[in-house]
Amino acid sequence: MCSEQPVHRLHRRSFLKASGALTAMTFVSSGPLSSIAHADALTKAQRAKLSPDDILALMKKGNRRFYTGKREDHNFLAQQRASAKGQYPAAVLLTCIDSRAPAETILDLRIGDIFNSRVAGNVENSDILGSMEFACKLAGAKVVLVMGHTACGAIKGAIDNAELGNLSGLLAKIKPAVAATTYTGERTSKNYAFVDAVARKNVELTIADIRKDSPVLAEMETQRAIKIAGAMYNLETGVVDFFVG
Ligand SMILES: [Zn+2]
Repeated sequence: MCSEQPVHRLHRRSFLKASGALTAMTFVSSGPLSSIAHADALTKAQRAKLSPDDILALMKKGNRRFYTGKREDHNFLAQQRASAKGQYPAAVLLTCIDSRAPAETILDLRIGDIFNSRVAGNVENSDILGSMEFACKLAGAKVVLVMGHTACGAIKGAIDNAELGNLSGLLAKIKPAVAATTYTGERTSKNYAFVDAVARKNVELTIADIRKDSPVLAEMETQRAIKIAGAMYNLETGVVDFFVG
């Protein structure tokens, strides 16, 4: 159908604009169809057109908008209303509880764009894997992103062998990353370079654990239905460094 192509193109543009990925494309918002160039939530059709790499690229662009001070002017009420009857998130994230690392903000995302599970030190467990399997297999997310951050208190606690109630068990899950980190300098929590090296290794090991402990996700990755990736957020610069786990 010759009429289909322009519509597809417009839908794609409207998503990219709404997500802020192409802020320079305001010229698209002209003519009678301009009203749909202001989508407030990701639709099923829009998500269907995005590959895992597209989604990672959109998150990278969103982070760039964040750290350059060019975040989208979000209408959260419009997003809430647009997403109330259904959600089609593009990714599921596993991030730390750190108050300074809210993924939706630092990636400049909208309500409904991602699932986000948060636990100190961004380690996986069966409940989180169940959540990720729901997100990808049942709800259609195409990216699993594990994001650690610099100067992470949970990582420092694991390095220091901190003991406190249930926290001890949580930190025990991070300790393999401490042992697995190759670092020739001072291996203490006072050395931020070491802390950050452990945090990155912890992301890598968490990704490996996800593949090992979730045959559902591992199979989806093998079939290229999803991509499992890692990232480190720098508290000082606001920059998220993405890497393939
Ligand atoms: Zn943290």
